[in-house]
Amino acid sequence: MMREFDDAVKLLGEFIRIDTSNPPGNEEKAIQFLEAILQKEGIRTDVFLPVAKRANILARIKGKTKGKPVVLLNHVDVVPAKEEEWEFHPFSGALRDGFIYGRGAIDMKAQAICQLLSFINLYREGIVPERDMIFLATCDEEVGGQFGVEYMLNEVEELRNASFVLSEGGCIIEEDGAFHAQISVAEKTLSQFMIKATGTGGHGSIPHKDNANEKVVDASKAILSYKWPLKPTSIVSTYLNGILKGKKGKGFQFHSLKEALSGKGFRSFIENNPMYNALLRNTVTLTILKGGEKVNVIPTESCAYFDARLLPGESHDKFFKIIRRLCRKEIEIMRIGSGISEPLPSGYNTHYFKGLRHIVGSMKGPIPVLPFITTGATDLRYFRNLGIVAYGFFPITLPKEELFRMHGINERLSVANLKEGLEGTYEIVKFLASTI
Ligand SMILES: [Zn+2]
Repeated sequence: MMREFDDAVKLLGEFIRIDTSNPPGNEEKAIQFLEAILQKEGIRTDVFLPVAKRANILARIKGKTKGKPVVLLNHVDVVPAKEEEWEFHPFSGALRDGFIYGRGAIDMKAQAICQLLSFINLYREGIVPERDMIFLATCDEEVGGQFGVEYMLNEVEELRNASFVLSEGGCIIEEDGAFHAQISVAEKTLSQFMIKATGTGGHGSIPHKDNANEKVVDASKAILSYKWPLKPTSIVSTYLNGILKGKKGKGFQFHSLKEALSGKGFRSFIENNPMYNALLRNTVTLTILKGGEKVNVIPTESCAYFDARLLPGESHDKFFKIIRRLCRKEIEIMRIGSGISEPLPSGYNTHYFKGLRHIVGSMKGPIPVLPFITTGATDLRYFRNLGIVAYGFFPITLPKEELFRMHGINERLSVANLKEGLEGTYEIVKFLASTI
């Protein structure tokens, strides 16, 4: 794999330098970049152009039997980055102190390059997979996937009959010297909304009781102080039982999640750990406040935006009934986005899961390999909703802190991680090629 590894470092730098900030996306250049690499190998590609400057690419290695392909899925768009906040230019792909810096280094250009090179390597080795192996790079994931995966599922019927899809959402986590692998089998569902109030304008020197801003502040306070119940879904129970077994904390000793949740000490431990908290309950985050423009003028309109994420299986209608109840009648509540309402989880009692567990075991030894729920949304939900087994996993080992750079500033990936990711992805691809 050595030659491919040198290629990976170079290619990832080049790939990051193609600015695919979404919005607006402009992913066509990134897709052409992948197309050129595949064509140089003599692999046929199909490029799809849903609208101007947006593109998707599909390449295939023909399998022994027709139908039910295995799909290596990645997205080429990234979230925007503000240059002035970064140590290095976010689209420089700078290589410093063993790290490749840039927007998309983790989410998910490195994984895209590892999937691409593993796919090419399979082709070079002349391995004929049991089923068609499809490499699919798409646009528009960061804004919902309408022109990317949603478009491709409408255009290419066989994608709707895939047997397995591998993309982003989980990796190997290092925490306090211990390791565990997260294989994402489900995700929380978006339930974003906006609240709005109108009122009487006026001069700030004469306060009155019909102030739009004050109404929105009151409603926001009520929404944010509501305590959503802690609900141990079976996936999160398996996950937390796997990593917390035997843990001692202030006021608790962990045996099982169900038992632990009945104790005050453990519940406060969960509430002080933002990740565990998000895995165990619906969350509502106030992200945008808008109201007023002049310090001495009472505005006639005010609004607040909330990013809410529901646990799998939760009903949006029930959720909004509670939000409605928390606000006074005069507050208008508007849902944002239609999306896919309540995505299905993938099962984890599958031979795909066992195969991944085996590969992680050969990389890292006997560490826990656990099903996981991604707190954000990914394109995998489109496939899971069709009943297709779809996992999010990139075999790199990250200290927990590194993950927070994703969508944040100074996103980076170490060269050592890239090597690990490439080797692991190739093992996974070989396994997928050998199984039905
Ligand atoms: Zn992503």
